[in-house]
Amino acid sequence: MTACLFDLDGVLTQTARVHNAAWTKTFDEFLRQRAAATGEPFQPFDPGPDYNRYVDGRPRADGVRSFLASRGIVLPEGSPDDPPDADTVNGVGNRKNVLLLEQLRTAGVEVYPGSVRYLKAATAAGLRRAVVTASANGREVVAAAGLEALLEARVDGLVAREQKLRGKPQPDTFLAGARILGVDPAQAAVFEDALSGVAAGRAGGFGYVIGVDRVGQADELLAHGADVVVKDLADLLDAGDAAPPVPRTPGQAPTGERGLA
Ligand SMILES: [Mg+2]
Repeated sequence: MTACLFDLDGVLTQTARVHNAAWTKTFDEFLRQRAAATGEPFQPFDPGPDYNRYVDGRPRADGVRSFLASRGIVLPEGSPDDPPDADTVNGVGNRKNVLLLEQLRTAGVEVYPGSVRYLKAATAAGLRRAVVTASANGREVVAAAGLEALLEARVDGLVAREQKLRGKPQPDTFLAGARILGVDPAQAAVFEDALSGVAAGRAGGFGYVIGVDRVGQADELLAHGADVVVKDLADLLDAGDAAPPVPRTPGQAPTGERGLA
């Protein structure tokens, strides 16, 4: 391995929970209004399974579309500059982004200290380092977290839109990260906390996929393509006293070819 491709929210920064809270509020308001209009019972968004299966790691519009589809709801797509009160896929996504930005402005961005240690160790070891995130706010979050100096390249939601890269679970954005760093996918390790993200790492034929389990879904991360699961990136540095990484067992190997070095 000569390169590391890090997801941002939930891997480097403690922003996955901020995203989750913004999604929960957005979807609950949407579902409550819809229940009032249709007379159907209000069934809230579940910040556990609904978030992990349908939303986490995916581009904003894909998250809206896939969660609503799970409830049998189809909205018109609209366009990315729809106002946040539009009842379109993009409008609902923009509502969530307004809440997210408010929260980031008031509470700031916290990093995971173990991830900063890992980034510094990777830098000292001469490994190439890029951040690969679906977030359209990638630049702002990296800057607010003070991580700019430790990362050489960034592929975020805006870059993906410009270059027409498909979002996770497709591998396009990670492949773009490897390309920018000038390495083969087989030489790069992917670090991901989302089920869609480890699936993208697996689909891209990357050398190693590290699942980062922040919410107690180690088995799901392994089933979606992680080679190993850790609770924190520091677990990869402190082999002595840390919780041991959970490796994939043969029975959990997902289908699909893979060149493990
Ligand atoms: Mg993430």
